[in-house]
Amino acid sequence: MYEFIPQWHQQALHELIERRARLPHALLVNGQAGIGKYLFARYVTQLVLCQDDTDNNQPCRQCHACHLFEAGTHPDFYNIELQINDSGTVAKEIKVDQIRQLIGSLSQTSQLGKQKVAVINSAERMNRNAANSLLKTLEEPSGDSLLILVTAHSWRLLPTVRSRCQQIALSPPSWQQAKMWLQGQHPGADADNLLHATNGAPLAAATLFTTDGISQRDDLLAGMYAIAEGKMDPLRVAQKSAEAELPQLVAWITACVQQLISINISGKHEAVGKLDWSVVAKRSELKNLFAFYDKMLQAAQQAHSNINCQMLLESVMLDWSRLFNKTR
Ligand SMILES: [Zn+2]
Repeated sequence: MYEFIPQWHQQALHELIERRARLPHALLVNGQAGIGKYLFARYVTQLVLCQDDTDNNQPCRQCHACHLFEAGTHPDFYNIELQINDSGTVAKEIKVDQIRQLIGSLSQTSQLGKQKVAVINSAERMNRNAANSLLKTLEEPSGDSLLILVTAHSWRLLPTVRSRCQQIALSPPSWQQAKMWLQGQHPGADADNLLHATNGAPLAAATLFTTDGISQRDDLLAGMYAIAEGKMDPLRVAQKSAEAELPQLVAWITACVQQLISINISGKHEAVGKLDWSVVAKRSELKNLFAFYDKMLQAAQQAHSNINCQMLLESVMLDWSRLFNKTR
């Protein structure tokens, strides 16, 4: 866990602090995945809970509340996220029981005398019952609670939930900022390749590095490259890639086709991962690349449901191979 707020969110934080006196009871922090939205939410939380009021711009990190918060034991802080199932996998939904329990806790008096704060991470994953339960709290909040919903997919939230929160849209860092941050965290990493894999999102890139997900992604791209050259069977690539998480695979494939479209339009030579895609890009027709891109957007919606991962991947890889059939 990186304890401090990334530099590229300072402006948004500053704006929030400016209107702190008029802070609503519910915030919706949204923006691209992997840019540090959750860190932002935690930082705001610590700022609200901090008992030292001499500096309103940052938590003091010295008071009792700050110590408890940083130790993960602050009694007025509630962290809601996707739970780990008995089988060790991450649940697909935030369940109604989690939200009901939260609502129960928020209705009680604050233990340290300041506000109670709940952060709901991946808030779009609340199932319908969970979201409906939360709605009542959003409509009639208890006076001293602050709810911070965090999401990279705000359109998937119920409109009624969205409309009851004040939205804070966080921007991604520039490529240079992201690269510097990543190199600071992991000096040995191939920052450009990692950032290409995550669409420039530095925290996602760091996770990809520490979990060695980057080698899965590089293998997938190598497989897709070989398919385009007619050197590998699409079904074999689908089979080999199925170990990675489906939403992640879909995101990598989407990023790859986006780059091919960009190369195809601009005619410029651009790196996608470690391979030179310019020749491959020119061998496919732009309208077909766009059609494939549309399919990937649909796949992204299906990826979080209980769809058969292997079948979806096979279908995607077959479609991918057809992009290059004619011209080979
Ligand atoms: Zn403090």
